[in-house]
Amino acid sequence: MLIEKNVPLQPYNSFHIVAKAHALLRVASQADVQAVVANPDWGEAPQFVLGGGSNIVLTGDVKPLVLKVEIKGRQVLQETAKAFIVQAGAGENWHDFVTWTLRQGCPGLENLALIPGTVGAAPVQNIGAYGVELQDRFDSLDAVDLQTGKLFTLNAAQCAFGYRDSVFKHASTTLGLAGRALITQVRFSLPKPWKAVLGYADLERKRVESNIAQPDAMQIYHWICDIRRAKLPDPDVIGNAGSFFKNPSVTPEQCADIIARDPKIVYYHLADGSVKLAAGWLIDACGWKGKSVGHAGVYEKQALVLVNRGGATGGEVMTLAKAIQTSVYERFGIRLEPEPVVV
Ligand SMILES: Cc1cc2nc3c(=O)[nH]c(=O)nc-3n(C[C@H](O)[C@H](O)[C@H](O)COP(=O)(O)OP(=O)(O)OC[C@H]3O[C@@H](n4cnc5c(N)ncnc54)[C@H](O)[C@@H]3O)c2cc1C
Repeated sequence: MLIEKNVPLQPYNSFHIVAKAHALLRVASQADVQAVVANPDWGEAPQFVLGGGSNIVLTGDVKPLVLKVEIKGRQVLQETAKAFIVQAGAGENWHDFVTWTLRQGCPGLENLALIPGTVGAAPVQNIGAYGVELQDRFDSLDAVDLQTGKLFTLNAAQCAFGYRDSVFKHASTTLGLAGRALITQVRFSLPKPWKAVLGYADLERKRVESNIAQPDAMQIYHWICDIRRAKLPDPDVIGNAGSFFKNPSVTPEQCADIIARDPKIVYYHLADGSVKLAAGWLIDACGWKGKSVGHAGVYEKQALVLVNRGGATGGEVMTLAKAIQTSVYERFGIRLEPEPVVV
C-alpha cells in the first residue's frame, strides 16, 4: 500500500484551490479499498473519498487520508428487449464514459455530456442536466463499507435519490452513508427504444437553428457540449465547481408573493406542485454578477457559478458564498443551499 505524503491537491480540484493532502492513497480496485480498511494504521483513521474534485471546496489542507478513486473499466453487460445495461468503474471520467456509451450504440446519457468528474461521484449528488438526472438511467452500484470492508450493492430506491441528493450525502446518524462508503462500480440501464429528451429552451434553439426536426442521440450530445461550452467556464481555464447553489423550491404561494414584487423572476412548476426558482436569477437580481470577494468571484456570464480569479482560497470562496446567501435571504426570504461539498 503506497501512501503518498503532502500531496498537492491543486491539480485534483476544479476550483484549483491550493491545498495539500497530508496522506493520499490511489485506489485502483475494490481490493485496494478493502486493504485500507484492514490496515492497522489506516483502517480506523478518518478518510475522505476524492473523485475528480469538481464538486468540492477545499478550505485548508486535508487531514483525513484521501482515497483517490482510480478504479477503471467499462462494459456493456447486457442487452435486453427493454434496455442496455452498461457498467463503469468509479474512477472512469464521466464525460468519456458518456461518449463511449454512445459509440457502443447505447444511447441515453447524451443530455449529461460534459459534466466534469468521475462515474463514482455521479450517484452521490444524482447529477442532472437538460431534463435528465442520473436516477433516470440508474440500475445499481457496488460500494465498499469503509468501516467493515464489506462490499454491498444498492438499487435506485436504496440510494434515495433526490434533487442533487442521495443517501451518500447524509450522515450515518440519519441512516445515510456520507463518509461511510466508497462506490466502486456503477451500472446504468439505458432504455430501449431510445427517446430524445428535448424541451429545454437551449436545445430547442439548436433544433430550430440546425433545421433538424428529429435529432439522434449523437446530435443531442454535440448540441449539449456546444451549449455547455458557451455557458460555463472551462475549469482548466477558470477554476470553478459549476453551479454553486441548488435551485430552491418554494410553495406556489411563496412564488406568487415574489412575482408580485419581482415579476421577471425565473421559475418553473414541478410535478409535486412546488415551484423551483432559478438560483442564478436570484443572485443576479441581488447584483452579484461579475463581483468579487478577494480572489473569488461571480462568473460574468452566469451568476450561479463562483470562480477562482487566481489564487483564491477556499475561505474566500465560502466568504463570497455566505455574502450571496445573506443578500438573497434579505431580499427574497430564501435560503440558498450550496451544491459542492466543503472540505
Ligand atoms: C464546470 C462544471 C459544470 C458542472 N455541471 C454540473 C451539472 O450540469 N450537473 C451536475 O449535477 N453537476 C455539475 N457539476 C458538478 C460536478 O461535476 C458533479 O457533482 C460531479 O459528479 C462531481 O464528480 P467528482 O468526481 O469531481 O466528485 P468530487 O468533487 O471528487 O466529490 C464530490 C463528492 O462525492 C464524493 N465521492 C466522489 N467519488 C466517490 C466515490 N467513488 N464513492 C463515494 N463517494 C464519492 C466525495 O467524497 C465528495 O463528497 C459541474 C461541475 C463543474 C466544475
